[in-house]
Amino acid sequence: MKPFQYARATTPEDAARAGTVDGAKFIAGGTNLLDLMKLQVETPEQIVDISRLDLNQVEETEDGGLRIGALVPNADLAAHPLVRQRYEALSRALLAGASGQLRNKASTGGNLLQRTRCYYFYETGDACNKRTPGSGCAARDGFNRIHAVLGASEACIATHPSDMAVAMRLLDATVATQLPDGDRRRLPIADFYRLPGDTPHIENVLRPGELITHIELPAPPPGRQLYRKVRDRASYAFALVSVAAAIAVEDGRIASAKLAFGGLAHMPWRDGTVEEVLVGQAPSDALFATAADTLLRDARGYGHNDFKIPLARRVLIATLKELTA
Ligand SMILES: Cc1cc2nc3c(=O)[nH]c(=O)nc-3n(C[C@H](O)[C@H](O)[C@H](O)COP(=O)(O)OP(=O)(O)OC[C@H]3O[C@@H](n4cnc5c(N)ncnc54)[C@H](O)[C@@H]3O)c2cc1C
Ligand code: SF4
Repeated sequence: MKPFQYARATTPEDAARAGTVDGAKFIAGGTNLLDLMKLQVETPEQIVDISRLDLNQVEETEDGGLRIGALVPNADLAAHPLVRQRYEALSRALLAGASGQLRNKASTGGNLLQRTRCYYFYETGDACNKRTPGSGCAARDGFNRIHAVLGASEACIATHPSDMAVAMRLLDATVATQLPDGDRRRLPIADFYRLPGDTPHIENVLRPGELITHIELPAPPPGRQLYRKVRDRASYAFALVSVAAAIAVEDGRIASAKLAFGGLAHMPWRDGTVEEVLVGQAPSDALFATAADTLLRDARGYGHNDFKIPLARRVLIATLKELTA
C-alpha cells in the first residue's frame, strides 16, 4: 500500500471540502477501497474518513417513502422492519450480497460506488481502460465469463457488481448529495451511473468532492416484489445474472411491471420497453418470451460469457411466472 494522508470529517460539508483535495478519496466501510489500495489499483494521496458522520438513520418520509443515510450498514438496512415490509426486493438483494461480516461493515453509499470485479481491473500488470485510460481492455479477448452482454463498448465490457444498486434502480431511488460549495443535489438513480463509452473510468455523475449523504426511496411500487440472483456458489459470490422485480396483477392482467437487472451491464440495467410489453396483458408463456426477446434484442456475448444471454432469458421468465402465479 502506498503512503497516504488521513483526515477524519466531522460534518458532510467538511467531508465534501476535504474531498476536493487532489487525489482524495472518501472511506466509509472500506471493504472495497482498502482492497483496491492494497493492490495499488487505487492510490489516493488523501483518505477522508466519513465513517463517523451522522448519516446512519433510516427515516420515513411524508410521501410514504424512506430516507436512508449513506452510512447505514447493509446488514441494518436489510433487517430494517420497513424495508422488509415494503421493499422486500431491496432487503433480499442486500442479503444476497457478500457475507454477514461484510454486510455489517459495508455502507449504503459505498455499496453504490463499489468498483467492478473484472479480474483485469484488479491486476495492475494487465491492460485496463478503466484503471489506466487508453491502455486497452484485456477482457475483450481474454477470460470474460463475468462480463457484460448489454450496453458494453469497445473500450470496456465490465459489469457493475452491486446487488443493492439493482434493487435501488427497481425502486426509482434518488441519490442525495453534498457538494463542496455548500450546495446539495438530488440525482435520480436512472441518471446516476454512466455506460462505459470511451471513458469507462468515469462511472457516475458525481463531481469532485461530492459526497452521497442519503438515498431516498419513493413509496413502494404496487404488487409483489422479488430479487433473484444466479451465481456460481450459493453464497459469497457476485451475480452472474440477477433480476429485481415488482409486478402487480389486477383482474387477470398485469397492471404494473418494474424490472431491473444485474450482472448484465456496466450499470444496473432497466429497459422501459420490456415493462411496456407486459403492462395491460394477461400473463402467458408467450408474453414472457416476448418480454425476454425485448430485453435481449441487442445482447452480445464475448465468448466465455455467451451463456448469460440464455440464462438471463430463463431468469426473467421464471421471475415473471413466479410473480404472476
Ligand atoms: C469478498 C467480497 C464479496 C462481496 N460480495 C458482494 C456481492 O455478492 N454483492 C455485492 O453487491 N457486493 C459484494 N461485495 C462488495 C461490498 O458490498 C462492497 O465492498 C461494499 O458495499 C462497499 O461499501 P463500503 O462502505 O465498504 O465502501 P468503501 O470501500 O468505503 O468505499 C467504496 C467506494 O465508495 C466511495 N464512497 C463511500 N461512501 C461514499 C459516500 N457517502 N459518498 C461518496 N463516495 C463514497 C469510496 O470513496 C470508494 O470509492 C463484496 C465484497 C467483498 C470484499
Ligand atoms: S472490461 Fe473494463 S474493467 Fe475489465 S479490463 Fe476491460 S476496460 Fe478494464
